Amino acid sequence: MGRYGPPGSEINMSKTDIWNMPMPSKPSWGVRGIFRARESAIPHICYSIGDGRKIELWKFPWHPAGVLSSVISRHSTDLSLSSLSLLAQIHHVQRWNPILSIPSLKKAKDLLAKGIFNNSNKNIPIWKPEANGSFTLESAWDSIRVKNPKPPWYSLVWFRVNTPKEAIVVWKSLQNRLPTRDRLPFHVNDKTCPLCSASLESLNHLFFSCGCSAWIWRSLLWRAGWRRKPFRTLSEEGSWIRDKFKGNGQLSTVITKGFQAAIYQIWKERNHRIFENKSTHKTQILKRILGDICFKINQLTTCRDSPHARAIEAAKHFEYKFSDMVRTVQFCSWAKPQKDEVKINSDASLESHCASIGGLIRDDLGMSLAMFILIWKISMSWS
Ligand SMILES: [Zn+2]
Repeated sequence: MGRYGPPGSEINMSKTDIWNMPMPSKPSWGVRGIFRARESAIPHICYSIGDGRKIELWKFPWHPAGVLSSVISRHSTDLSLSSLSLLAQIHHVQRWNPILSIPSLKKAKDLLAKGIFNNSNKNIPIWKPEANGSFTLESAWDSIRVKNPKPPWYSLVWFRVNTPKEAIVVWKSLQNRLPTRDRLPFHVNDKTCPLCSASLESLNHLFFSCGCSAWIWRSLLWRAGWRRKPFRTLSEEGSWIRDKFKGNGQLSTVITKGFQAAIYQIWKERNHRIFENKSTHKTQILKRILGDICFKINQLTTCRDSPHARAIEAAKHFEYKFSDMVRTVQFCSWAKPQKDEVKINSDASLESHCASIGGLIRDDLGMSLAMFILIWKISMSWS
């Protein structure tokens, strides 16, 4: 980091203890934010110590237990080291200062030995919230935020393969915050449902009581294997899904995705009719919903073999009739050839009027060298 204040007031952070340096007198907005964040970050930082030459023993947050001056009294350690002592005075590249072999200093040595040391000359920062020690914004936010219990609707809105734009519509609907016409000011005359033009548009009418929406829900339920009528309210349908499909499992992923896609597509159709004067038949809306579900589930097939990738198998198990749209997943891996050899992978298919064969040649690094496709069309003769 270079300049952080007025021209000329530059500082070389690589040679400065960022954790203990005072706030600059006229910092920019960004620099002020960084300095203020130090207090929150220090409890989550420690260092893997190499030479320890520039590390202040008492003030620098190198030890996993925290800044040592706040963990233990300097005088109680009997180390006779000043407050400005460097870590290298007692530990330097895997070696302890012989003074620490004195029996009376055992307690201090035991505490210091709980530090993390490496056999290089580098002092490497470790971000404690992540298992691999690397900083991520997600873990930083997770470590500083106030954690409240998850609301009951959480699993209907946020899950592994959710679509943000759909999640926001569902979230707003579950909070009854969608601007349906029954919530418009009294002087707005037209408050009829744009899907049926027969009833007052309210949240529960639009999504469940309306003939068009009820047909869509019933079709989805039947495809999912349930021969029941849809519930009449959003909260009832949401509660049923939530109670029946708990957790982040394969089945609940498919069902929750279906719930989310249905709410989103019905809302989208409603807006099209109001603002663009365009309407789509209910069978097409259902097709879009199924397409939404399949699109997301198909994305999972590009993942490695994992519980989430197997959600597509859950869809079949659940009797969703996606067989015409969803590919069959085959979990397999490619074994590379020996060095300086190539491997040919090929496959073929045969149908009543056509036969084809294709292949790919790759080297031991997995690089494609050549490919081929051959197709034969077979003429049928009954004479
Ligand atoms: Zn209606």
